[in-house]
Amino acid sequence: MLTKMTYFGFIPGYILFWGVFVIALGLFAYRIRQLLQYMFLGQKETGFRNWGRWITSTFAYVFSQLCQLKNFRTKDRAPLGHALMAWGFFVFVVFYLFFFILAEGFGLTGLENTSFNFYLAWIMDFMAVFVIVGAGWALIRRFIVRPDRLKGEQTTEALIILLSVFTHPFAFLFNQATVIAMGEPPAGLGYSPLPPVSSWLSHLFTGSTLAIQNWHVGFFWADWLTVLFVLVYIPYSRYLHVIASIFNGILQPRMPRGALKPIDLEKAESMGIATIDKLTWKQNLDLYACVVCGNCQELCPAYTTGKPLNPKKVIQDLKKQLLKVGPELLKTKVKGEPALANPNVILAGNIILEDEIWACTTCGACDNVCPVWVQHIDKIVDLRRNLVLEQSKIPEAAAGALQSIEKRGHPWRGTTLTRTDWAKGLDIKTLAEEPKVDIVYWVGCTEALEERSTKVAQSVAKLMKQAGLNFGILGTEESCCGDPARRLGNEYLYQMQAQQNIEILKGYDVKKIVTACPHCYNTIKNEYPQFGGNFEVVHHTELIAGLIREDKIKVGKGISDIITYHDSCYLGRYNDIYQSPRQILKSLPDIKLVEIENNKKRGFCCGGGGGRMWMEERIGQRISENRIDQVIATKAQMVATACPYCLQMFNDAIKAKQTEETIKVKDIAEIIAESTTK
Ligand code: SF4
Ligand code: SF4
Repeated sequence: MLTKMTYFGFIPGYILFWGVFVIALGLFAYRIRQLLQYMFLGQKETGFRNWGRWITSTFAYVFSQLCQLKNFRTKDRAPLGHALMAWGFFVFVVFYLFFFILAEGFGLTGLENTSFNFYLAWIMDFMAVFVIVGAGWALIRRFIVRPDRLKGEQTTEALIILLSVFTHPFAFLFNQATVIAMGEPPAGLGYSPLPPVSSWLSHLFTGSTLAIQNWHVGFFWADWLTVLFVLVYIPYSRYLHVIASIFNGILQPRMPRGALKPIDLEKAESMGIATIDKLTWKQNLDLYACVVCGNCQELCPAYTTGKPLNPKKVIQDLKKQLLKVGPELLKTKVKGEPALANPNVILAGNIILEDEIWACTTCGACDNVCPVWVQHIDKIVDLRRNLVLEQSKIPEAAAGALQSIEKRGHPWRGTTLTRTDWAKGLDIKTLAEEPKVDIVYWVGCTEALEERSTKVAQSVAKLMKQAGLNFGILGTEESCCGDPARRLGNEYLYQMQAQQNIEILKGYDVKKIVTACPHCYNTIKNEYPQFGGNFEVVHHTELIAGLIREDKIKVGKGISDIITYHDSCYLGRYNDIYQSPRQILKSLPDIKLVEIENNKKRGFCCGGGGGRMWMEERIGQRISENRIDQVIATKAQMVATACPYCLQMFNDAIKAKQTEETIKVKDIAEIIAESTTK
C-alpha cells in the first residue's frame, strides 16, 4: 500500500492521500454551492416529467452515450470519440470511488488477491485506451482540424480539459505497469494473460526493485493528483456538464415539445426575461449543462446563412452574465446588502442583441440536436416577450403582421381575399350553415388568404369530398390560431386569439380538426390544452395517408418526376410526423422519391417559422434560397411540402433564383389531388 509509506521522510502517506483529497473536495463543494446559489436566484419552475421514468431514461441515454451518438454521421464521427471518452470516464469514476479509495485510502486489501482484481485490471486497461483514443481524437479535431462548429473554441480551458483527460489514463496505465513489473497483483495471481497494455508497458521497467518502486510512487501520485485536479476543475469549467447534463435530462418540462410556456398575464410581475435573474432556475441549469459542442450552431439555419444568431453563443452569453452578476445579486437579494454596482442589465439589446433575437425561426433544430437537453427557443421567445411587451421594440414588418391579427384576425396585410373565396364553387358548408359535421377543416390564414396557398386548401377539400368525409369549415368565424403572435413574443395577443378560437370551437362542440398547416396543427394540438381547448387534431398528411391506405382515394398515374420531400419543422421535429408524407409520395406509382441531405430530425428550416414569414430577411443569404440550393443538389424536379409557409417561402426562393424551369414546389395535397384526376 503506497499510502502506508512515508514521504519526505516523515509524512504518513495516508495523511497526504486524504489531505489532498479533502482539499480538492472542499474546493469542489465550495464552487458547487456557489453555482447552486446562483442557479436558485432564478424564478420558480415546476411541472417536470415523471421523475422515476426520466431518471432511468436519462441514465440509459447518458450511459449508452446515445445523447452524443444520435448526432453521428459519416461526415461527423466525433460523437464516437466522445462516447469512448465518456464510457471510460464512467468506469473510472466507479473504479476510483469503490476500489482505489477503498484500497489506498482505507487500506483494504481483501480484493487484491482475487480473480476479481485480475478482471478489473483488464477492464481498466481497455477503458484507459478508450479515453486516450477519444481524448486524442478530440484534441486533434479541436486544435488541428478545427471544424466550423468548433471554430473559436480553441481556448485554454478546452486545452486543459482535454489534456487532463488525455494524460490521466497514461498515469493510470504506467501505475498499473509498475505494479505488474514488481510482480504484485494482478501479476503473480496465476492468471494469464495479463492486461495487454499495462503488461506491455511493464517491460519498460527493468531496473532494481527500488527503482521500479520509485517510478511506481511517481505514477501513483500523478494518477491520484490528476483525478483530484479533474474533480476540482469540474465546477470551474465546462467540465461541469458531466454533472449538470444528467440533472438537465431528468428535469425536462412536462409539456409537449411544440408548446411554449404560457405567461400568467394576471399575476406576472414582468413579461419574459428582462434581466438574468428572471430566467427560471431550470433555465439556469440549462446554461450549466452546455458543453459548447456547437452542434446547435451547425444546424441553425440563421447561423448557417450568415445571420448574427448563434444558439451556442446565446447560451454561453447568458451563462457568462449569470456568473458575472451572481455574486452581486446574492449579496443584495439574499443577504440584503446594498448594491455596489448594478451589472444586472436588461438582457435583450445588451447581452443578446436584437438582431440575434429576431433572427430565430424557432425551427427547433438546436433543441433537438443538443446532447445535453439545453432548450434555446424558450429563452429566445422569452427575450422577444420582453422586447415586445415591456420595451415595445419589434421590427416594423412583424409589428404590422401583429396589428393585422388584432384588427382583422390574420397576419396577411394587404390581401384582397376573404376567408371563403378559395371555397367558391366547391360546395363546402360552414359550421354556421351546417353545424353537424364529423370533422372541422381548419384552413389557416395562409391557405385561405395567400393566393398560391389557396390551391392547397382546394386540394385538401377535394380529397376529403372524394373520400366522402362529412366536414365543414368555420369560414369567417375562423381567426388566426395565434402561432405568429406567440412566437413573435406577443403573449397577450396569442392568448386572446387562443381563447376566442377555443370558445368558437367549443360552441360548435367540435371534436376533430383537420388542418394542412403544421403551425395551426402544433398550436391547436399542443398549446390550446393550456387554455382548456382539447381537440383531436389531424394533419392533412396523416389524413391523406390513411385515406389512401383505406382505399378511399385512388391515386392515379401521371406524375413521374423525381421528387424530394422537405420536412416542415413544426410537423417533423415538433410532432414526429415523418412517415405519413413519405408514405403518400411512395404511393404514387411513377415517382422516384429521393431524400435531401438534411432530412427528418436534421431537417433544415424554410425560414418562415417563428413569425419570420412576416419579417424582412436583410442579413446574410435567404434561408429559403439556401434550402432550395440543397433541393437542387438532389437533382429532383419537384420539392414536395406539407406546410403553407414552406410552400410560400420556396415559391419565392425559386422565383428569386430564376430556377422555375428546373424545380417546382407543390404541397402533397396538390400532388395527390392532381394524380386522382388524371
Ligand atoms: S430554433 Fe432554429 S433558428 Fe432558432 S436558434 Fe434554434 S436552430 Fe437557430
Ligand atoms: S447548447 Fe447544446 S448543442 Fe449547443 S453548444 Fe451547448 S451543448 Fe452543444
